[in-house]
Amino acid sequence: MDAARSPPILHVPDPRLRLRARLVTAADAEAVRALAPRMLAAMYAAPGIGLAAPQVGSDLRLVVMDLAREGQPPAPMVLINPEITAASRETAIREEGCLSLPGQYADVERPTRIRARWDTLEGAKREIEAEGLLGVCLQHEVDHLNGVLFVDHLSPLKRNMLLRKLAKELKAKPRP
Ligand code: ZN
Repeated sequence: MDAARSPPILHVPDPRLRLRARLVTAADAEAVRALAPRMLAAMYAAPGIGLAAPQVGSDLRLVVMDLAREGQPPAPMVLINPEITAASRETAIREEGCLSLPGQYADVERPTRIRARWDTLEGAKREIEAEGLLGVCLQHEVDHLNGVLFVDHLSPLKRNMLLRKLAKELKAKPRP
């Protein structure tokens, strides 16, 4: 897929990032088949490891991810209607960033282990237990489908500092 034709990634404070996405139904099959590769192209071009449909202005509960390490072959994942079905009481802190808040990173505390399920493009059901990067990425992307951003997990002071810094940087360097 030509990355030049991939959809632009919305930046904070675009209000579309705050909307709750809707469940993908059978009627959306064609739209999902068209959108998923374009989202993957946008994610790879950014580059990033995860992208949720609201970040490209879509209201579908659709996520793409690729957690392959540098030098490894790509391992694209397309998750339809993903949900977190269980989360550990134990939490862990990990640095997160987001393609909708370019250049901004912060330590975020989340449940260490989660259980997640989703549908695949082929219509199969997947359910996994995840921790580490995969667990964090799943939680971060499902948050996007609910209009939640990683900065919402920070203290108001830290969040406001980060958002001010982002606004300043985006103003200084307008997108191409
Ligand atoms: Zn994000």
